[in-house]
Amino acid sequence: MTEKQPIYIMPENVSRTLGRDAQRNNILAAKVVADIVKTTLGPKGMDKMLVDSAGNIIVTNDGVTILDEMEIDHPAAKMIVDITKTQESEVGDGTTTVAMLAGKLLENAEKLLDKRIHPTVIVKGYKLAAEKSKEYLEEISFPVEDKEVLKNIAMTAMTGKGAEGNREKLSELIISAIDQVGSGKDVNIEDIKIQKLKGDSVEDSELIRGVIIDKEAANETMPKKVENAKIVLIDFPLELKSPETETKISVSTPEQLQSFIESEERILKEMTDKVINSGANVVFCQKGIDDVAQYYLAKAGIFACRRVAKSDMEKLARATSSKIISNLEGLTEENFGYAETVEEIKKGGDAMTYVKGCRNPKAVTILVRGSTEHVVDETERAIKDGLGDVVAAVKDGKVVAGGGAVEIELASRLRKFSRTLTGREQLAVEEFAQALESIPEALAENAGMDPINVLTELKQKHESGLVKYGLNLFNSGIEDCFAAGIIEPLKVKKQAISSASEVATMILRIDDVLISSGSSSGAAGGGGMPSQFAGMD
Ligand code: ADP
Ligand code: MG
Repeated sequence: MTEKQPIYIMPENVSRTLGRDAQRNNILAAKVVADIVKTTLGPKGMDKMLVDSAGNIIVTNDGVTILDEMEIDHPAAKMIVDITKTQESEVGDGTTTVAMLAGKLLENAEKLLDKRIHPTVIVKGYKLAAEKSKEYLEEISFPVEDKEVLKNIAMTAMTGKGAEGNREKLSELIISAIDQVGSGKDVNIEDIKIQKLKGDSVEDSELIRGVIIDKEAANETMPKKVENAKIVLIDFPLELKSPETETKISVSTPEQLQSFIESEERILKEMTDKVINSGANVVFCQKGIDDVAQYYLAKAGIFACRRVAKSDMEKLARATSSKIISNLEGLTEENFGYAETVEEIKKGGDAMTYVKGCRNPKAVTILVRGSTEHVVDETERAIKDGLGDVVAAVKDGKVVAGGGAVEIELASRLRKFSRTLTGREQLAVEEFAQALESIPEALAENAGMDPINVLTELKQKHESGLVKYGLNLFNSGIEDCFAAGIIEPLKVKKQAISSASEVATMILRIDDVLISSGSSSGAAGGGGMPSQFAGMD
């Protein structure tokens, strides 16, 4: 036999961390991420100011926004950022909570690893605890009984956010918006558009029974306002060919050119006449509108917008009860929509078109106002949290008490459950319970209260069966948070607990991190430790 050749299984530019080092490193990264958002949790949480290399500033309290803007590249840290995004898209709120829980679950797992408990045992215990938590959550949730509960959910979501001072008014806008677009499971959050407009103050924010689109009239000479609007939505161009498919035409005499232009104009005029004769006085076109067509439309007193986004076309259709037509034959009365007014409004240099006063609109717009861009942006984020929470509660019909009440109750039940276990998973279930308690702990800490006292008192109350008792940060009291109106949708907690435990167990199972420095991700630092985490071990 010839001498064996060495086998290369990895290229040289791959760095590798193994076993306990890999675990430590990943846990540390997750913990750093959780610690970053921790101080923003709850109504007394602080804000973060994020400044990018170009000097752009964002001031926010929103977990997912903070992490998303931070350009984190540690792979395990990125997994935490990803669950905040899932939380945001699935329920729209609870992003700080999910990141904190994941970080704490991993931090606690480390204690067990130090005691030489195998990761698979911890994973098993965490999974059991997550399953049990879901069961317990169902048991301690309440049905949504009236509008007041929904309003409280919106208020709870917006407490401590930039919009706090106007949360009463904003909550009402949210509830009316949802009421308008549907009920129960039929509510689709896509039907509620949030439109930002800098100027005036947050309290001037309003609900538009219709849609606002980021477009102005196609032509200066068109009317700026149309009352009793008869609206037609068309998704084909009012021009002869789109510029992308321009074809070459060869003409050899000036007469030929002239007749060509005339015939083009004639076709456009015929097309436009059909629109004009249909009786519509407002046109929203998803494609282009030729200058010649614009001229004739304007002359007939028609307001038209071109290149309207498809998503806006769909909202317009839902708001005005009209159909989007794809050919000139569709220009009939039954496909038209109605609105009291369609108006182009210019504010601060930006022109937008307001379609207002629709009859029973199935799509509406919350117009967010605020004195500066930062205020408008942070108010929008708060409204999104509130809207997401109320929609989740309306769809699922179940809510729980906030202020840490849920977490304390779950922890107490999990501890009892852990005593029924005989293996070492018992310890993992206990650590899971302790991780849940970190939520009320942080709420207290961020409010400058003594977390140990708060936790002790809360635990006592729950031991005596007071399931809804939590920390009310309006008056720093330990009381029935449900009665105090601190209410959250069940779905937010469910999603947060299941995502956090999923990502924690996934990270715990990793014992080998391979990072190829050839990749463009920038996650090059030795052993999977990018620069911002270097030296923190
Ligand atoms: P997240 O991004 O996780 O939603 P928040 O900063 O919005 O984080 O804080 C949510 C937490 O604040 C929840 O646990 C909620 O119960 C709690 N909370 C909201 N309002 C109050 C209040 N008035 N008193 C005590 N806790 C509150
Ligand atoms: Mg929140």
